[in-house]
Amino acid sequence: MYDYGLFIGGKWIERERKIEVRNPYNDELVGYVTQAEEDDVDKAVDVAEEAFKTCSFPAYRRANILSKTADLMEEDLQEIACLITLESGKAIKYSIGEVKRGIETLRFAAVEALKLHGETIPMDASQSGENHIGFYMRMPIGIIAAITPWNFPLNLVLHKVAPAIAAGNSVILKPATATPLTAAKLAEIMKKAGLPDGMFNVIYGSGSTIGKKLIKNEKLAMLTFTGSLQVGSYLKEETKAKRLTLELGSNSALIVDRSANIEKVVPKCIVGSFANAGQVCISIQRIYMHEDIFDEFLDSFKQAVSKVKVGNPIDEDTEYGPLIDDAACIRIEEWINEAVQEGAKIEAGGKFIGKKLLNPTVITNTKPEMRVICEELFAPVVCVIPFSDFDEAIDMANNSIYGLNAGVYTNDLQNAWKAALKLEAGGIIINDYPTFRVDQMPYGGVKSSGVGREGLSFATEEMTEIKFITFNLG
Ligand code: NAP
Repeated sequence: MYDYGLFIGGKWIERERKIEVRNPYNDELVGYVTQAEEDDVDKAVDVAEEAFKTCSFPAYRRANILSKTADLMEEDLQEIACLITLESGKAIKYSIGEVKRGIETLRFAAVEALKLHGETIPMDASQSGENHIGFYMRMPIGIIAAITPWNFPLNLVLHKVAPAIAAGNSVILKPATATPLTAAKLAEIMKKAGLPDGMFNVIYGSGSTIGKKLIKNEKLAMLTFTGSLQVGSYLKEETKAKRLTLELGSNSALIVDRSANIEKVVPKCIVGSFANAGQVCISIQRIYMHEDIFDEFLDSFKQAVSKVKVGNPIDEDTEYGPLIDDAACIRIEEWINEAVQEGAKIEAGGKFIGKKLLNPTVITNTKPEMRVICEELFAPVVCVIPFSDFDEAIDMANNSIYGLNAGVYTNDLQNAWKAALKLEAGGIIINDYPTFRVDQMPYGGVKSSGVGREGLSFATEEMTEIKFITFNLG
């Protein structure tokens, strides 16, 4: 049974209250973490401040620790993957994939630690700069607070912690209350890898108490948040951190043009719509399908959907498991029913087949104002919408408050370029699904999908500030 204390200043600290972590598939107890008291938040910030000021943390050491963490994670890959599955309900094959990605994230971050550099400025380009030498360096910014969601409990934590450490900052992490054990395991591994005490601290507790207290601390140089638009909007208004990165949700669109190869598109739509029960920020929610191939696609897609295995996420052949909690089940059932009442047609699924297990669901005949279209579904549900004109498809895809990744399948070069330039999203994925992500690419949203970019070189740079230095030689 896992049982972790708060991780502050390199020590595991116990308090009176514990948080139970349960498997969302069968409600079995997976472990405990210590519930932080409100004072622990300030304590963690003070410890992080002290570590940042006093720790000697040159680039080679930061890179070594990040690489060593990756090595240790490789040794424990299977155990960490099981832990992700047990606390989040993610199917084991995808949890293994998440650990592998986490290892890559660490290795990319190690490279960034070694690459951080400034450049010289041509001072004599200005008359008053004559006889001056000028250059800048990239400096760490200080204490970074990281608040993370439950759906990628390892890799999304690493997308904050690894670049923060690469840049030489100290970090306080508040992971999602549903999935704190993977974060605690990471702290254990990083300590073993030689991370100096206080440079990485982990506190647990609800967002509305512990998270709220953390974001209001005036010592924070930066808050980096991944989660819902609702919480992100609140943080934007309330945080006292000097910088803010928000990685929020979306209702990602995939446009499939007449020239696309349906045999290639169908399997991608299965994974993109249903992996992790659709609880992925770039899950496919809206498929805009050219009317000439609409029926053919729908037939093949429905056949493929009927073969998707839903069940116990620890089984190797399971494609996806449960929704995270009862509230998510109630919400999604309501949205589906509402869409049906307003004229939508359920082509597949639409029913719960077990506790928190929703059948893969395909909906047609939707209207743009239905919540299954315009709000973030975050469930194994996808809507298929016909279009006749490619420009119309782009307009429909852009008719959203969100803009994270958008996917386009087309063999028409003009349309590919049109999509690349006109789609409103942080990432445009041509001839692949919007769910495509590798960890070094710039990743983040436009519109209500967020501000700032993750991806190791981008996040590391955002976690530094420029110090300019000039010598007067005159
Ligand atoms: P969430 O409800 O917004 O929670 C995210 C984190 O914020 C959790 O740690 C939560 O703590 C904390 N929190 C909640 N209220 C807070 C407050 N008032 N002050 C400070 N912290 C607070 O999101 P989620 O359900 O965990 O994750 C799903 C969402 O994340 C979806 O919208 C998804 O699209 C988005 N997401 C985005 C990306 C991306 O990269 N763009 C990636 C993954 C997920 P508790 O757990 O204690 O509530």
